[in-house]
Amino acid sequence: NEGIIIVAATNRPDVLDTALLRPGRFDRQVTVSLPTYNGRLGILQVHARNKKLAPDVSLEKIARRTPGLSGADLANLLNEAAILTARRRKDSIGESEIEDAIDRVTIGLKLTPLLDSKKKRIIAYHEIGHAMMMTLLKNSDPLNKVTIVPRSGGIEGFAQPVLNEDMVDSGLYSRGWLLDRIRISLGGRAAETVVFGDAEVTIGAGQDLKVVTTLAREMVTLYGMSDLGPMALESPNNEVFLGRDLMPSSEHSEEMAVQIDRQVRTIAQKCFEETCQILRDNRPLMDRL
Ligand code: ZN
Repeated sequence: NEGIIIVAATNRPDVLDTALLRPGRFDRQVTVSLPTYNGRLGILQVHARNKKLAPDVSLEKIARRTPGLSGADLANLLNEAAILTARRRKDSIGESEIEDAIDRVTIGLKLTPLLDSKKKRIIAYHEIGHAMMMTLLKNSDPLNKVTIVPRSGGIEGFAQPVLNEDMVDSGLYSRGWLLDRIRISLGGRAAETVVFGDAEVTIGAGQDLKVVTTLAREMVTLYGMSDLGPMALESPNNEVFLGRDLMPSSEHSEEMAVQIDRQVRTIAQKCFEETCQILRDNRPLMDRL
């Protein structure tokens, strides 16, 4: 029939059969990305319609605090806040329920705090290491929150920056920002080293080190931000799913591979030493925190 439009949705446009995409078939694409501030505000307004909010709750404020959340996440956030409100026997959703619901949706459920112990002290110094680097470094996004109240999902604590939405949207991260991001990620391990010594460092920094290695490697191989010069040495890995490009495509010699590893190592090592030094210089503050 004429006048019928077929619309389909997929998360993997990269692996569609090209026959599907020929003119006259699915030949138009509309990319629906995560909502920006205005989108989030609109979504929150829709989901707040059937909920009773306290007069001090501002949807604008929630929208500003939730970059990166999808429509479903935002709906879930307001539902969680409503559940907490009922559990606390209040009759309208207040600031503290919103606050706890944001944490719950983004990080996990709050568990009972640890009793004072060596474990607690190690975690505290680890998170303070991250938090101090966020605060002291000049290209970093500032600290939003640091806590050692454990969360569901095995999270012992975290230090969280204020998300800079302009930066997230534009994706224009500078070299200074990337290096500071590496130093922040190393802050946990550095604090453990400075306070407890080399032999006492824990596996708690495992995830942090993954971030460090990935960022340092990307700086060298994708963004031309190392001594190897402005060259793209690898194609970005787009999480290839089926078939196409199963082999990672590297555009360099084996000798270059050795140099890449060396550069990555230099970045990580240098940032680690700088981070330890900054923490040593601020040791009294760190102990107090
Ligand atoms: Zn950490």
